[in-house]
Amino acid sequence: MRNQAGQKTISRRSFGLLGVTTVLAASGVAAAPSAFGVGEGPGYGGNETVNTSILHTYDELVAELKTQAAKQSALELEVIGQSVKGRDLYLAKYLSNPANPTILFLTQQHGNEQLTTEGALEFIKSLGTGKNRGVLKGVNILIVPMLNADGAMGDVNFSLDNYIAKGRHLTRYNANEVDLNRDHIVKVQPETQALHNNVMRKYKIDYMIDLHHQGARSQRDGELVSGSILYPTTANVDATVLEGSKRLGAVVFHAIDPTGWGHLGRYVGGSAETISRNGIAVEYGISTLLFEMRGMSDHEYEPYVLGQKSNGYLIKQTVVTLTATTRAIADGSIATADTSFWDTLAEQTSRGEE
Ligand SMILES: [Zn+2]
Repeated sequence: MRNQAGQKTISRRSFGLLGVTTVLAASGVAAAPSAFGVGEGPGYGGNETVNTSILHTYDELVAELKTQAAKQSALELEVIGQSVKGRDLYLAKYLSNPANPTILFLTQQHGNEQLTTEGALEFIKSLGTGKNRGVLKGVNILIVPMLNADGAMGDVNFSLDNYIAKGRHLTRYNANEVDLNRDHIVKVQPETQALHNNVMRKYKIDYMIDLHHQGARSQRDGELVSGSILYPTTANVDATVLEGSKRLGAVVFHAIDPTGWGHLGRYVGGSAETISRNGIAVEYGISTLLFEMRGMSDHEYEPYVLGQKSNGYLIKQTVVTLTATTRAIADGSIATADTSFWDTLAEQTSRGEE
């Protein structure tokens, strides 16, 4: 029943959107992807299929991490635990000086949100080049890419037959069909335990950006967003920690929003401490920021999925975010980041289905 209903709905939506694409093409609007910002760039259901073969598989990710660790003397890899299905979970570490402030970048708690991991890999590669190497003198960097490796590989104990992408499927949940980003208090799942036992409790971390993707139809001021950001919203967060989160957000906002392709909104999120943005800020006193980028790599619900023609902008958005925040921490400028934009940044709304 569920299969049939789902497929019918998808066909109808695709047909409707095909009409829009035809009109755009006829009017000459459907130009090369470079003509669009992320927000207004082509989505799934426009003129393309969603093929996940361009994304790193887990094995390819590990191979790339090992290649970079062999090339870069500053980079060390650590296995922090195993997924439900036994995949080693990796932490990439640049620990140049214990006295430096430390930032953690976390990607793919949700397995179907992979462009953040693609961006993190690009960032790691960039740290091996002359252009960015200097930043390591002033900041320690920890990166956990693809925390939900089983979900990312679609290797789970439930059916993904309804999912939209061609090729490998990717899902939000881990192999036990648990949302890892609701497991930060009780920490039942092996992936969450690996993160808390071998990263959060083992390293002195000052800042964390938790990188995600949301649906493709969120907007701010009438324009689709390239992403939305939010600081901890639990009442239990320490005021100094919260201020650090707002400054971290300020660095991200001012690096992304003024670009031609970036358009950020204020994410609308809850105050539960089961969510890492809230729970990790309270438990460890870490200034956290949630970054929800536009569009997911795969899903059973079409409006959440974004076509791969927007991949370039979203990967770039991740790289710019990681580069800007590490530089601002390394040179100390984060201490004076102007947080006043938060006072006027509008909450994102949903454009809804057409
Ligand atoms: Zn997510």
